[in-house]
Amino acid sequence: THIPSLTLNNGTSIPQLGFGVYQIEPQDTREAVRTALETGYRHIDTAEMYGNEKEVGQAVRDSGLPRGEVFVTSKLNNGHHAYGDALAAFDRSMEDLDLEYLDLFLIHWPLPAVGDYVETWQALEEIYRSGRAKAIGVSNFQPSHLERLLRETGTVPAVNQIEIHPYLTQDDVRAFGTDHGIATEAWSPIAQGKVLDDPVITEIAGRLERTPAQVTLRWHIQRGDIVFPKSVTPARVEENFRLFDFELTPADMAAITALDRGERLGPDPDTFNWIP
Ligand code: NAD
Repeated sequence: THIPSLTLNNGTSIPQLGFGVYQIEPQDTREAVRTALETGYRHIDTAEMYGNEKEVGQAVRDSGLPRGEVFVTSKLNNGHHAYGDALAAFDRSMEDLDLEYLDLFLIHWPLPAVGDYVETWQALEEIYRSGRAKAIGVSNFQPSHLERLLRETGTVPAVNQIEIHPYLTQDDVRAFGTDHGIATEAWSPIAQGKVLDDPVITEIAGRLERTPAQVTLRWHIQRGDIVFPKSVTPARVEENFRLFDFELTPADMAAITALDRGERLGPDPDTFNWIP
């Protein structure tokens, strides 16, 4: 299977489908990532917050794949937004991952009431200049947060990773990204399973002889977003990878998009200011 890649605004390329490891216990992570890499995934999405960077790095190294063939993302945890703290936290992540470089490093949450994410972004710019992260970006940023980075710094984030699924289509944030060259990554792409028994989605799945998860993930792919569904069940890891031998019609795409009801599973980035 050929997984399409997207070109980010700094010229680096990212596989549009990856594997997410949120809520995978550290003791299960090596095996899960091994399964994903054996299935053909070449993009892993982790974070310091997930507590499994060490095991992700181990699995990537154990795979024997050339480093350049696997795209690895990690994220700065919420307690480290001050400039010096962000640099130190990145060093610790790199030590845990034990990789030569990261492909993408993100600010996990803007935490608008905690400090100044502009200062945090300046630390990521410094990391980018060092070459140890090939691209930098943000997660859970609203257009107002992005506006400030665009106004006050010299680097446009390569990606914005936000909650997106059929019940939260985020068309305004996605449009802002499109207008400014920021790629959109969709987290919880199947709403942690919540959308899989929606009648609109099960009808399309039945008609196309695909599963509801495949239909939902395919919807993201055709919208042009980057996805990394999570599963520790090998059959589902495989199922979620089989997205490139069928297509949704414009009518099916529109029917899924129309399921939007502004329903967040996760926190609202404007009011979330939690520090571990
Ligand atoms: P998801 O939408 O990928 O759903 C995962 C859950 O859905 C699994 O635990 C499993 O129960 C079920 N599932 C998976 N495949 C299935 C299938 N084929 N059939 C039926 N059920 C299936 O949710 P997620 O893990 O929250 O999101 C994916 C990734 O996004 C995470 O692992 C993480 O990398 C990232 N993420 C980022 C943030 C952020 O703030 N940046 C927040 C949440 C998640």
